[in-house]
Amino acid sequence: MNTTDIGKSGVLRTGGDKWIRPIYANILEGIITAANKGAPENWLINDISKLNGGKFEGHKTTHHIGIDVDLLLMGRGFKLNTKRTLNALERLLKGSKDYNGYITDYIITVPGYYKPNTKERAYSSLVEKRFQNRCIGDRIIRLPKERGTGSVLRHIEENHSDHTHLRFNWVAPNAPPNNRVKQLPQDVSIEDFDFRYNSEGELVVKFRNGMMSKYADKRVLWRYQDQESFDDLNLNVSFGEVLEESEVVAPESLSKHNQLGIRYIYLAIENKNGSQGWCVEKKAVIEI
Ligand SMILES: [Zn+2]
Repeated sequence: MNTTDIGKSGVLRTGGDKWIRPIYANILEGIITAANKGAPENWLINDISKLNGGKFEGHKTTHHIGIDVDLLLMGRGFKLNTKRTLNALERLLKGSKDYNGYITDYIITVPGYYKPNTKERAYSSLVEKRFQNRCIGDRIIRLPKERGTGSVLRHIEENHSDHTHLRFNWVAPNAPPNNRVKQLPQDVSIEDFDFRYNSEGELVVKFRNGMMSKYADKRVLWRYQDQESFDDLNLNVSFGEVLEESEVVAPESLSKHNQLGIRYIYLAIENKNGSQGWCVEKKAVIEI
């Protein structure tokens, strides 16, 4: 059975292959409308579920209950090794901002994301360069394989290299949407952190005196990159997690790439417990 019907236009269809839990209909429309506004390439809804759910040929374990949505990128299509697709994905994540309480995650299959036969991450991935350890639409991005980390973007091994799959939160039939309370880390400030080069020329990030305890219940992820713009494919970027000791040393190899004497650090700060992926992003500009 061919369930692809991209020839149909319009955001929402009832029945056919596009049945969605009614409580999510307006939310999905809002997301797509926001993501497509003024965009060079539009997102289009493909498979959701059969009318009232049930088995859906071509989809193994999802698309059964009206909360899974396949999204195609029109124009030149969805190719994760291109800047235009990364831009489109970013528009989608930003367009979801007002609805992020309803979203479990977006699923993609990043080409070459894991090195063959290992669990080692291939950090050269353009997707990682663009998205890893960022906070977009108040949701953290960590590109995990596992479910339930709160990351709004998740990588799985197969079947999602030519589209993305949006999953809404599971809800019981007839229940209201699971509009989770935002638990944003409050009162976080870039001023709470100290950025300094050590004698080796490496960048060190620390909490300012007395500030560490303020962040005891939070996790601080960092990105360190040599340009402000996220959409340059040649961006030099490194990222990691601030550990309990709260110190980051950026690799020397990265610091030598810089031509302009300015670097950018982005801190994505989330709650350690019960955050469900909510975060805030802070930017520091460092001149050498
Ligand atoms: Zn799907």
